[in-house]
Amino acid sequence: MQKFDLLTLTKRLCEINSVSGNEKFLADFIFEHLSEIKGLSLKRISNTIIAQNSNNSDPEIILAGHIDTVSPSGNEVPIIKDDVVFGLGACDMKGGISVMLALANVCSEFNVKTKFIFYESEEIELEKNGLRIIANLEPETLRADGAILLEPTKLQLELGCQGVVLFNLSIKGKKSHSARPWKGINAIYRASDFIEAVKNFPLREVALNTAVYKESLQAVKINGGSATNVVPDRVDLLLSYRYAPDLSKEGAVKKLTNYFKNFESLELGDEDTVLEARNGARPAKADGIFAKLFEMLNFKTVAKLGWTDVAFFSEQGTEAVNFGPGDPELAHGPDELVPKNELDKAYITLYEFFCSF
Ligand SMILES: [Zn+2]
Repeated sequence: MQKFDLLTLTKRLCEINSVSGNEKFLADFIFEHLSEIKGLSLKRISNTIIAQNSNNSDPEIILAGHIDTVSPSGNEVPIIKDDVVFGLGACDMKGGISVMLALANVCSEFNVKTKFIFYESEEIELEKNGLRIIANLEPETLRADGAILLEPTKLQLELGCQGVVLFNLSIKGKKSHSARPWKGINAIYRASDFIEAVKNFPLREVALNTAVYKESLQAVKINGGSATNVVPDRVDLLLSYRYAPDLSKEGAVKKLTNYFKNFESLELGDEDTVLEARNGARPAKADGIFAKLFEMLNFKTVAKLGWTDVAFFSEQGTEAVNFGPGDPELAHGPDELVPKNELDKAYITLYEFFCSF
């Protein structure tokens, strides 16, 4: 197995600014790196790069990672100290990108068809996400027997992800002068009943394969009232529902709608609106395409609470997991770092996994 200096490569990647929307130079660097590797076919869509090895034997596995970062917080100049890279994006996820680049160098040794996707704009609006763009343009690119996203997981196998629904309740009342409140209906007072209902919403803990998903429903924004002398006639209450991936987004929306119908008043014209609904992803099976990886990691897995890009693959019927170097708790913060031993271990583990077929 060829060895790589992943610490220096990660630092080099961190030196190239790639804050979301500004990925061109990093995409150029990656494209150049890949074009020097024999037997890879390359394709570029804007600042997303897709590379494929020439092996045609089944199964087919995808390695994917986003190349953008959040904005800097004084950490834009990377440094290496005691076998650790510190700097913007070190953890999320230039460490993972450097592991992907090293694996691309040796992918002619893999016993499987392998596709690499380096994609843009993960840290901003969903519409700009490189995977969303591929899913719209050529969804077959995301179809394979499995996909591994090298997001930071501290080298644990992170399974599936929760779905998300953003749900707005418009709670109505009737305006009147605040000195004569009996002539009106105060929407803010009515909102308290809805807040109580949010707290009593039946949440589940769902075990799927080896992962347990704990659901949540939170009121995340509230807006209402007009003037200091008016009994308010409207309050908007925004809810965020994180649901277990055994439900589809349609099922999750239905659950919310049915539940809140019981509290809404037709007469006053209460309304509910779905602002966004995303499917989750079911966790990969321990005896499926990733069986060997489960075994190599001693079945140490975590369920993803929150939404991640694995859902793009899941939508296409591709089992996907997150597995990469770096501590996810350091992502997006001023203290981003990634240690050499995690970079090396991610590389070795994935190399052995891809050679195990
Ligand atoms: Zn990330």
